[in-house]
Amino acid sequence: MDKHFEEDLKKAREFHGHLCSGIIFGVRIARAGLNYLGIEEPAENKDFIVFVEADRCLSDAVQAVTGCSLGKRRLKWIDYGKMGASFIDMKTLKGIRIVVNTKENPSPDQDALSFWNQFTDEQIFKFEKILVDIRPEDLPGRPTRSVKCEACHEKVMDGREIIKDGKVLCKACAGDAYYKKI
Ligand SMILES: [Zn+2]
Ligand SMILES: [Zn+2]
Repeated sequence: MDKHFEEDLKKAREFHGHLCSGIIFGVRIARAGLNYLGIEEPAENKDFIVFVEADRCLSDAVQAVTGCSLGKRRLKWIDYGKMGASFIDMKTLKGIRIVVNTKENPSPDQDALSFWNQFTDEQIFKFEKILVDIRPEDLPGRPTRSVKCEACHEKVMDGREIIKDGKVLCKACAGDAYYKKI
């Protein structure tokens, strides 16, 4: 077990609110990803970026352990519904994707922590070396540009506007709204 495990687990449990298999996976995946990038103290390294593939427990653990967050633009949520995460060196855009890959499952009366402790990372995760394509407007730092939507007049940052029938529109006004006004 990684020497940071107890401390990482504590951080993740406090951030997430409970201990579950997803948190255990996330803590182990995050540390394996950091180890791959050669990072021991994530708080002292801002040169990596993390992708998570579901809005579930595991992602909270990855955030708690790596310190990468949406607001810092170093956590990217890709809505695949998969228990996986990728850890990318921002200079090379290369890194590792790690996905839960096991048929094992603790029974409800079993302690999740001691159950998963029986397995090595290699036994329960799949590892893939990857290269990602990150657009300049998705990188950390000041917004590259911002425009005003011609319909609602709200400000749109980072190239998220859409040109439709010759008009500059936000995604909501262009027809991709997640809400309806009531
Ligand atoms: Zn949970
Ligand atoms: Zn608009």
